[in-house]
Amino acid sequence: MSLLLRNARLLDVVTGEYQETDVRCADGRIAETGSGLRAPDGVLAVDLAGAHVLPGLIDAHVHVTAATADLGSLPHSSPSYVAVHSARIMSGMLTRGFTTVRDASGADYGLSDAQAEGILRGPRLLFCGRALSQTGGHGDTRGRGTRTSDDHPCCAGLGRVADGVDAVRAAARDELRKGAHHLKVMASGGVASPTDRIDSTQYSMDELRAVVEEAEAANRYVAAHAYTARAVNRALKAGIRSVEHGNLLDDESVRLFREYDAFLVPTLVTYWALKKEGPQFGLPTDSHRKVDEVLEEGLAALERAARGGVKTVYGSDLLGGMHRHQNEEFRIRTEVQSPLDVIRSATSTAAELLCMEGEIGTATPGAYADLVVLRGDPLTDIGFLADPRNVAGVIQNGAIVTAGEDTPLAA
Ligand code: ZN
Ligand code: ZN
Repeated sequence: MSLLLRNARLLDVVTGEYQETDVRCADGRIAETGSGLRAPDGVLAVDLAGAHVLPGLIDAHVHVTAATADLGSLPHSSPSYVAVHSARIMSGMLTRGFTTVRDASGADYGLSDAQAEGILRGPRLLFCGRALSQTGGHGDTRGRGTRTSDDHPCCAGLGRVADGVDAVRAAARDELRKGAHHLKVMASGGVASPTDRIDSTQYSMDELRAVVEEAEAANRYVAAHAYTARAVNRALKAGIRSVEHGNLLDDESVRLFREYDAFLVPTLVTYWALKKEGPQFGLPTDSHRKVDEVLEEGLAALERAARGGVKTVYGSDLLGGMHRHQNEEFRIRTEVQSPLDVIRSATSTAAELLCMEGEIGTATPGAYADLVVLRGDPLTDIGFLADPRNVAGVIQNGAIVTAGEDTPLAA
């Protein structure tokens, strides 16, 4: 499969400069860039006439199995029913320009394999399986009146409960056995969990260190759900590489992120969406009031981290009917970061976190031929990324997978 794109305005996300160039894709990769490239026989050539082109976008915090915002209902849903929803959700992500996503719990090797084999339309899927949670932690969906939980692998769900160093080691090894690209732990309370407090820390340091040790033994890393500075800082000290949310981090956190070369993955759009549409998806009034505060704090945390030189990565964390707002995170972040820095968080910096530098998040020769074609320049108006209607086309592994009707890609 070969494709030649002519006259693209291709963004080098490292320098922030556009280059007017042709891009030739072959065997799923970018073969060469430069002006006046020759199209070998049988190559489809498309003149992009100066359209703005970026490397395919990366979202490092999604839940492709979150068919509903009521996460507690997932384990009681048919896994085949949830898988069909996942296919719909992943297809939407690809159309919005995301060619790679990192699932932050719920997705498994089945979805990842189906996407890689080309029988499921969607972004390349890096998964962690189930997130590890302590009893009563953010991954424990039981209400107070329920004693048993069914961790059977055929039940959909985002978390699995494991307590104690031996049990978390076994759970970590089990997720790695099933091909987890990274491990996920719940290191603090959350908004949606039924029995914990958002300001709680979860797991002992020994348990966190055991998970990190297991991941590192397999040349993988650990991502941790954490809100407060106390939870973030102990996660970083335990060797966690990717802090999810981090809305209440402090200056000590910024110092630790840099000391441990860790990444922050804010997920601001999910609070924005919950604020706007939470009640219609069943969010109680009390939680709805809290959402405003979490969004404000999250934006301040991002600003503090970015100013302190922390590597920040794009995340959305949307659930159920709110997935369609995935690109809005671009607009929210530009309140405190430059458009170029936000674009880097969804390309080059995300690739570094995912240990796929040079393969994704860049449009240089040798990388996967994943590109997004925009209707205008997002460096001058972030709306060209934040509104998915401005995505004119998406190329994945050198194939046109989305083409706006009025664009040369559709011809
Ligand atoms: Zn979380
Ligand atoms: Zn999440």
